[in-house]
Amino acid sequence: MCIICRSRHPQKSLIRLKQNGKEVIAFNGMGRSFYLCRNCVNDKKKLKGLAKRFKQDLEQLARLLGTLA
Ligand SMILES: [Zn+2]
Repeated sequence: MCIICRSRHPQKSLIRLKQNGKEVIAFNGMGRSFYLCRNCVNDKKKLKGLAKRFKQDLEQLARLLGTLA
């Protein structure tokens, strides 16, 4: 389930991330992870909200997602 829109998607189509201390990074098999769907990742407004929620730099977050999407 995508944590932004809370809709269900096949797990394969979701982007899996985790919070590592203060940073949000690609999930690496350890710790707690969360999912984002591609619709939300491509939505600038939602991405902005996400960056705020996790106290991340928007550009940095967008770059990370760009490499994963
Ligand atoms: Zn979503």
